[in-house]
Amino acid sequence: MIRIGDILEKISDYYPEAELDIVNQAYVYSAKVHEGQVRLSGEPYLSHPLEVANILADMHLDTTSIACGLLHDVVEDTHTTIEDIQERFGMEAAKIIAGVTKISKLSLDTARARQAENLRRMILAMADDLRVIMIKLADRLHNTRTLHFHKSEAKKRDIAQETLDIYAPIASRLGIFWMKRELEEISFYYTQPEEYERIEHLVRKGQEEREHYVETVKQILGEKMQEAGLPAKVSGRHKQFYSIYQKMLSQDLSFEEVYDIIAFRIILKTIPQCYEALGIIHAHWRPVPTKFKDYIGFPKPNGYKALHTTVIGPYGERMEVQIRTEEMDKVANSGIAAHWSYKEGKVADKEILSSFEWIQNLVENHQDNYGDPEEFLENVRIDLFPSEVYVFTPQGEVKDLPRGSTPVDFAYMIHTEVGHQCTGAKINGRLMPLQYELKTGDIVEIITTKGHQPSKDWLNFVKTGKTRSRIRQWIKRQEKERSISLGREICEKAFRKHRLNFHEALNRAEMQSIAADFNFKTVDDLIANVGYGKITPLQIIRRLTEDQRPRKEENLINRFIGRRRDKKKHEEQGVVVDGMDDILIRFAQCCQPVPGDPIIGYITQGSGVTIHRKGCINAMKLSPEREINVEWKKDTAGTFPVKLKFRAKDRIGLLAEITSVISQADANIVDVQLESLPNKTVTASFTISIANRSHLDTVISKLKKVNAIQEIRRL
Ligand code: MN
Repeated sequence: MIRIGDILEKISDYYPEAELDIVNQAYVYSAKVHEGQVRLSGEPYLSHPLEVANILADMHLDTTSIACGLLHDVVEDTHTTIEDIQERFGMEAAKIIAGVTKISKLSLDTARARQAENLRRMILAMADDLRVIMIKLADRLHNTRTLHFHKSEAKKRDIAQETLDIYAPIASRLGIFWMKRELEEISFYYTQPEEYERIEHLVRKGQEEREHYVETVKQILGEKMQEAGLPAKVSGRHKQFYSIYQKMLSQDLSFEEVYDIIAFRIILKTIPQCYEALGIIHAHWRPVPTKFKDYIGFPKPNGYKALHTTVIGPYGERMEVQIRTEEMDKVANSGIAAHWSYKEGKVADKEILSSFEWIQNLVENHQDNYGDPEEFLENVRIDLFPSEVYVFTPQGEVKDLPRGSTPVDFAYMIHTEVGHQCTGAKINGRLMPLQYELKTGDIVEIITTKGHQPSKDWLNFVKTGKTRSRIRQWIKRQEKERSISLGREICEKAFRKHRLNFHEALNRAEMQSIAADFNFKTVDDLIANVGYGKITPLQIIRRLTEDQRPRKEENLINRFIGRRRDKKKHEEQGVVVDGMDDILIRFAQCCQPVPGDPIIGYITQGSGVTIHRKGCINAMKLSPEREINVEWKKDTAGTFPVKLKFRAKDRIGLLAEITSVISQADANIVDVQLESLPNKTVTASFTISIANRSHLDTVISKLKKVNAIQEIRRL
């Protein structure tokens, strides 16, 4: 077990002026509260915080970080509270410990690997001080190193998988490559032991030969550098097993096909020397064209800089060479930690610092401070993802939303219907208003009510464009539906005025072409625009009646009787005209024939055949030459208007009774006109739509039973 004295000594080595009090006190406190607790290894629990503090000291972090490393588990595992920490160690330490504890409490279900990226971002977003992440990583590293003490294989595998999914990528993102490598290598061993052992075996197999090869190439590279007068340090080593494995996997290669198992590294003093070295290598060995990467000119987002090239080496095989300066090499190893590590007589380096894209803004905001690392740290209250929040579904899934998002945004993100029917939200188990601003780490549960409708007011507080457009779409659709039904109402009235049946017209093909004439896709759009008041029903009626006029080119008989091409339409008309097909027919309004009535047809000029009831006075006035035999089809569908006249004693509820009798007989009332006469009688005419003669007879006989009706007749 490492001793606190070793750690203190280490700190004094890299930071002679360090105030060690806080570290000492943290050690004493941690030892006291963890007393009696034991690690799986059988060691006292204190060994764990000590190792974590030691890792942090290896990274040359500040004393607060190291003290917090010693204290990182006290709130989670002992009776200590954040307030206790604040009292003893100050605000800064309390904040860091609170951050570490918060992340530890996240239940990271590694089975959900697909959301690993979100989890990583969430962890980064939750830490408003990067030192929280450093401590969390050091903690994970020590736990990974001691994974073999776990008894359960499944547990080992789970922790290792979580490390691969979450922590190794975070270390990589922060540029701490040595840690990334170690986390990956150990986790690889536990997640895929066979693969690990196979690669280990393959690497070891040719080891002697390979070592000889490495030595030879190193020597050649060194000589070439020397010839050019470049002060270079050359090294060569095999890549980590995990990255060999990943390469085999991603490029579907066998071990033998992975050429660059060995990476050579040339470390120089300056950037021009790096390019010079590259030139020398390319002059001696043929480069593989697609393999050259200039990360000095174009650094990786995490700040990594180097020149990478692959050449056909001295033995005719591919070899990868990485060229970088000493400074770049340091950053490549310690990443972001390099920024607030204490180096002898030197503080955080401006150039390295600004190479981290996402930290750049921060640096710009603290131009005056960053010269002093202690002060720089004070101000490193980072916000890695200032525009996002990460929240959990009750099932533990992570969702990311723009900052300022509300439960309504969350609901629409889950599903449009969930959004529409959202009536409330529970945040971390407590009911909250829908305007509540979501915070990273919140568990959000949406309460829905079937049939609930979104509110226009939501537009005042929702955050995402997607939510906004979903709500707008809904409102628009609602308005359209309202306009359609209003449009129908207007059209029905107007059509009636022109003695046309709107419902019948709706089924006609002409309506579709009329809609197209007005530049609408559907008849519904046309009707909706009548509702909006953009089109008058008269415009539709005009087109509809125009349409029925025959065309000039058509022959005489067609013009005379209005022969129709559309046979289907004709069949719907319910009447067969003697000996002729596709004749346009109309039902006379004077006698209103219904199926079952004896009928007679009269040819009219230009409007086809008009159907009258036999014996209609108007029909008898017409010329007998125009008479034509017609008959009802066997099954006539549709409804027909019939006008009935009543005379009745006026009494309360009469009208209601009549309408209820009519509707109970399955007939619709189309129009009503009432007139009160002086002698307490009333005359009424009802236009009702009925199916056929027997239907009409039923209606009339039922009406006759209504008390007070004195007379009823068909017009
Ligand atoms: Mn721990």
